[in-house]
Amino acid sequence: MKSSIKIFSIFGIPVELHISFLLLIILIFSMAFFGFISFYIAFLIILLFSTVIIHELSHSYMAKRYGIPVDRIILLPIGGIASMGKIPKDPNQELKIAIAGPSANIIIALFCFICLGIIGGLGSLSFSSLFITNTPSADLTLFLSNFLGVNLLLGIFNLLPAFPMDGGRVLRAFLARKMDYVKATKIAASVGIQFAVLIAILGIFFNIFLILIAIFIYIGADQEYKATLISSMLEGIYVKDIMAKNVDTLSPETPVFEALSTMFKQRHMGYPVMDNENLIGIVTFEDISKLPEERHTVPIKNIMTKNLILASPDEPALSALEKIQKNNIGRLPVTRNGKLIGIVSKTDIIRVLDSKSV
Ligand code: ZN
Repeated sequence: MKSSIKIFSIFGIPVELHISFLLLIILIFSMAFFGFISFYIAFLIILLFSTVIIHELSHSYMAKRYGIPVDRIILLPIGGIASMGKIPKDPNQELKIAIAGPSANIIIALFCFICLGIIGGLGSLSFSSLFITNTPSADLTLFLSNFLGVNLLLGIFNLLPAFPMDGGRVLRAFLARKMDYVKATKIAASVGIQFAVLIAILGIFFNIFLILIAIFIYIGADQEYKATLISSMLEGIYVKDIMAKNVDTLSPETPVFEALSTMFKQRHMGYPVMDNENLIGIVTFEDISKLPEERHTVPIKNIMTKNLILASPDEPALSALEKIQKNNIGRLPVTRNGKLIGIVSKTDIIRVLDSKSV
């Protein structure tokens, strides 16, 4: 089942609502309908999310300018996520992509401020009027000050130097101009983790929602640091450097029980299936272990995986690792001009990482 629904596309980027977000909208409007909150507040909450979309679109627009593909923007109750390709290691590009989101919010806040000035509403602008209050009726002045407050808050909050939030990326970009990328990430991530702890403590006293954000920052900072470390360790290493060249293969007519005993004897967990010179599939221990005993006499061509995910010998090891992780598989056959020349497994890549992390 699809967990999100596309609402529109802009700059060629689909904007989707997650199911949980749709439920939230229904909840908000039911609350308004039964009088727990005013319709104005309901409307303002929806508007808040539209500013989140604008925030994410600004990141995405800048990313696309640097040739980074953006798959989609998805709206969740905790905010928006733009799923994009790899963010560049170029500090200047990362800086511009990171700062685009909060800038958009600050520009909107500024625009509200100017509008308030034009309609003569600046006098009524106070700290409390910036925040959403449960007023039954609304006028333009109140709306503009609320919208100003929401955007200002969103802009400033995202600029906290708490990696992987935008401010943390800005911090890393600044650090990366002076030191190597891994070190810059390490510092930015540890600042992020300290912020996460601080936000969690504030959450205990003020708002439970902050604890959720703290967890998000904590996990994100840690993951991002590890990913950066791995990508730097694998730099300059290609599939051909680490692949196994003498590949044991099986023929499509081999019965499952025979394949299984070969696996135990040779201690490989996966075998390319070759029809003469042609690679036609792959069979793994996992595939076989899922089969009931009585199917152990069928030929492996009936149970093998036919949609092969391949690697090329000149592909960076990191890209092979990403394919392995994304598809949740253990190994990739390596082919050149359609001919099988090797196999690269997750274990091969981990071995490289282990040898470097002394
Ligand atoms: Zn952002």
